Amino acid sequence: RVPSLEELGFEAPDDFEWIWTPGREGGKKRIEEFKDEILNYDENRDYAWKDSTSKLSPHLKFGTVSIREVFWEAERLKARNPNDDTSGIKTWQEELAWRDYYFQILWNFPHSVHEPFMEKYRDNEPDWDRKEEAEEKWEAWVEGKTGYPFVDAGMRQLKKTGFMHNRLRMVVTSFSCKDLWLDWRDVHSYFSKMFVDAEISAMVGGIQWSYSIGTDAQPYFRVFNPTTQGQDYDPKGDYIRKWVPELKDVPDEHIHQPWKMNKLQQQDCGVIIGEDYPEPTVDHDERRKKSIERFEQLEED
Ligand SMILES: Cc1cc2nc3c(=O)[nH]c(=O)nc-3n(C[C@H](O)[C@H](O)[C@H](O)COP(=O)(O)OP(=O)(O)OC[C@H]3O[C@@H](n4cnc5c(N)ncnc54)[C@H](O)[C@@H]3O)c2cc1C
Repeated sequence: RVPSLEELGFEAPDDFEWIWTPGREGGKKRIEEFKDEILNYDENRDYAWKDSTSKLSPHLKFGTVSIREVFWEAERLKARNPNDDTSGIKTWQEELAWRDYYFQILWNFPHSVHEPFMEKYRDNEPDWDRKEEAEEKWEAWVEGKTGYPFVDAGMRQLKKTGFMHNRLRMVVTSFSCKDLWLDWRDVHSYFSKMFVDAEISAMVGGIQWSYSIGTDAQPYFRVFNPTTQGQDYDPKGDYIRKWVPELKDVPDEHIHQPWKMNKLQQQDCGVIIGEDYPEPTVDHDERRKKSIERFEQLEED
């Protein structure tokens, strides 16, 4: 039996949405449920609103399912569906490999927990802002109030459930870096506290990848656009409406850029930008240019 939060001396936050079934039984149940989704994993996995990934990460983290068990379950499914397109299963198994990839990175390069994996940035690291020096933008990011709906939806999903879809993990950390210039160490420490699947290797690997200082062949000019990412991966804004309820009545054409609505349109859908939902806290195009310049400057130093 898993002890309750109260028994462990914690108080459950009021608005926490408990979506997990812990323990061995919960793990087995999750594997069974995911079998209905896995064939379509390839085409669905990137779309946050479809919520179609396995959510096995907390079970893998705590050992309530084993990596071999899930790999072979997937293998058996392939054998059972010889006439179906099983590329979704193969793609999912490849995702499992990322977990081991980051384990071996951590094992071989343990310093990457504290400093950039990339050697050239180790003694010449960007001068990120620590959260104490940048309280306003730190709070906006953590609370999901940056004014960019897709980013805010991701941060609020995390706060409410302890989980965030992988696409969003990339989008919000690209934003904390390239748009807000926040120190990745503070991001790591916040995520470690919040994620139910918090795993140091995958987390540091994922964050440093987004910060262009990790194991990534693509250099610093990869900058996710928080608006087009939403348009591509949540085209109708279903994911946004779920996690940012004040935007629920905003029409599809404005859901990714609600600040572009005029006053009348804002009144019509019951959200006044700047009062009920923030204006964009930063200008993405400007911040993108600035962060690329800062990285370029480091390259020249
Ligand atoms: C900034 C950032 C932080 C992350 N932090 C964590 C973390 O703390 N713990 C964690 O388990 N994953 C982390 N990931 C990787 C990935 O986002 C999660 O593993 C995935 O979202 C978990 O959901 P799922 O179980 O439904 O994944 P599925 O899509 O069903 O994938 C199956 C399993 O493969 C593994 N996996 C998938 N993608 C990755 C990846 N990129 N890196 C490593 N393993 C992967 C996980 O064990 C996952 O449970 C992070 C990614 C980023 C970009």
